[in-house]
Amino acid sequence: MWQSPFDRGVTIHARLAAAVFRHERRLAAQQRRRAPARQASTERKIAVIQLQCRCGAVGIEVSGDPIVQFFCHCDDCQAVHGAAYVPESVYPADAVTVVRGDPASWKLKRNPRFTCRECGTRLFIEVLSLGLRGVNGYLLPSDRFHAEFHMQCQFAVRPVRDELPHFKSRPARFGGSDETVDW
Ligand SMILES: [Zn+2]
Ligand SMILES: [Zn+2]
Repeated sequence: MWQSPFDRGVTIHARLAAAVFRHERRLAAQQRRRAPARQASTERKIAVIQLQCRCGAVGIEVSGDPIVQFFCHCDDCQAVHGAAYVPESVYPADAVTVVRGDPASWKLKRNPRFTCRECGTRLFIEVLSLGLRGVNGYLLPSDRFHAEFHMQCQFAVRPVRDELPHFKSRPARFGGSDETVDW
């Protein structure tokens, strides 16, 4: 079936999110099996960070660790952010809460994206079907963003050379092929 580049971007995102979701559930199940006694008896301390848009009108609270962090070069991210590639930090939806202000919600395709009405800062995307929120990595303190890889490098506007893996689509553990590009 023919797909427009936009539809292809949505499919890529939905597949990635599904793979991330499955990966996370598998890890959680493994952890429960390995350390049931410790988990039951120890209250886990959850780190909370406060984020805000550039003008400060919108405040966001993020609790706990991200499921995954990466740089995405896909054409969907390019269109939405007006950027060559974007840093993404993915969390369960209920870990990302708007605590101040009233961000505008809009859709490029099907998932709502939240933006400050005043300064236009891109805040996060909500992947409705999977209960995930992908926070714009630029909003995080620099010591809280540690990308594991670049992905969707097949769409890259320019090569970005660094020590991270550069996947043509996605890593295998997130449903891709592990194929990398030559930069
Ligand atoms: Zn703002
Ligand atoms: Zn993307």
